Amino acid sequence: MTAGTETRSATSAPQADLYDAVVVGAGLVGAAAALTLGRIGLRVALIDHRLPRQAVGELGFDVRSVALSQQSIDLMDVEIDASPIDEMCVWEEHGGSRITFSASEAQVEALAWMIESSRACVALCDACDGISTVDWIEGSVSGFVPGSTAVTVELGNRSVSTRLLIGADGADSKVRKLVGTGMADRSGGDAALATVVRVEHAHRRVAYQRFSETGPLALLPLADPRCCAVIWSTAQDKAHALAALDDTVLAAALEGASELVLGRIEKIDRRFVFPLPQRIVRDFNPAPRVLFIGDAAHTLHPLAGQGVNLGLEDVASIAEEAQRDSGDLGRPGRWRGFALRRRTRAEMMIALMTGFREGYAYGGPFGRWIRNSGVRMIDAAPGIKRRLVREAMGVGVLARFS
Ligand SMILES: Cc1cc2nc3c(=O)[nH]c(=O)nc-3n(C[C@H](O)[C@H](O)[C@H](O)COP(=O)(O)OP(=O)(O)OC[C@H]3O[C@@H](n4cnc5c(N)ncnc54)[C@H](O)[C@@H]3O)c2cc1C
Repeated sequence: MTAGTETRSATSAPQADLYDAVVVGAGLVGAAAALTLGRIGLRVALIDHRLPRQAVGELGFDVRSVALSQQSIDLMDVEIDASPIDEMCVWEEHGGSRITFSASEAQVEALAWMIESSRACVALCDACDGISTVDWIEGSVSGFVPGSTAVTVELGNRSVSTRLLIGADGADSKVRKLVGTGMADRSGGDAALATVVRVEHAHRRVAYQRFSETGPLALLPLADPRCCAVIWSTAQDKAHALAALDDTVLAAALEGASELVLGRIEKIDRRFVFPLPQRIVRDFNPAPRVLFIGDAAHTLHPLAGQGVNLGLEDVASIAEEAQRDSGDLGRPGRWRGFALRRRTRAEMMIALMTGFREGYAYGGPFGRWIRNSGVRMIDAAPGIKRRLVREAMGVGVLARFS
């Protein structure tokens, strides 16, 4: 595997080979899973339609930038540029109160780290390339054959067999459809407009999030002190309407919705609209020798930036089990505990996101008064804030149960 180049070859793993694990999907979660299992010496194949490539917009950043926790960065353990978020400031439209969370208050190096998704995927695949037990297979999964000692994944004109199949092929997972397991809808219907902007005033590594009754707008600090990733979550039709605006009108809309917290919007990069359903797979281990992780297993509202983090927690949990017992990785019954724990954790995160989203959508003066009083109370309570930050970072008491 040689990541990120035109000349990269579609390596062919020998047909008759039996892998310990086959991971379908070289997004952040799947590539991290293949790397982590490869690092502990397992024979792994990583499959995707094509190798990840770096995507760079006009302002020099991938529009798909995500905030990752320190644990996620540690788990990936690859050379990537990660810029810190030192502080987070949250407030609401018509609200008099703001709440700020800071790394120094929480006694951590950073609240989170901003990374560019495509660069990180390329780095993860490059790291897989350096592990002799990890094979890259370019192809699209088209079939699944169950079996008692191994399962087989079909890729058009070839197939690979594995003790354990890990579906990490994203929210619209083909593997999920082939295995025949459904998703439960928890809430959603919103969409997010995502782009990168250059702002008038330096962000000083502060992430801003402003809630309105139609959804949150986030400005996340990138490595350039005057560039921010924008995630504006709102109703689907509004997100598409915003994306269709010309730059000057969209800049004015962003300035209004951000209350000029970073001054004027000087330049806007390409825009994308992402649907935001909150869904969870009915079973993380729906058939013997099959697991789902990442967005193939759960999709979350991005308002707390936890989607990849949750997927990388799935990976950490798999690695822990694989290290605990070096026997048949897909042995029936082996992953039931994992499936239950990960489902509980994902349900909890979805409930939290729904609570935030719906809590802020509740309009009227009474709703605002309750929220603003709560925000003032929490902002004045450093102990509570520290706990909230630790839960969001995945190192709190609740996170330890999963
Ligand atoms: C606007 C927005 C902002 C976000 N911000 C954050 C954030 O700040 N922090 C955070 O933690 N999360 C964030 N998220 C969530 C995060 O982007 C996702 O959780 C994450 O990208 C999921 O990664 P994944 O590897 O599971 O899936 P994907 O990134 O979707 O990767 C799936 C891979 O599978 C491959 N694939 C699909 N089908 C097949 C097939 N049949 N055969 C072979 N390969 C296949 C695809 O090519 C792809 O490479 C955000 C999401 C959105 C929409």
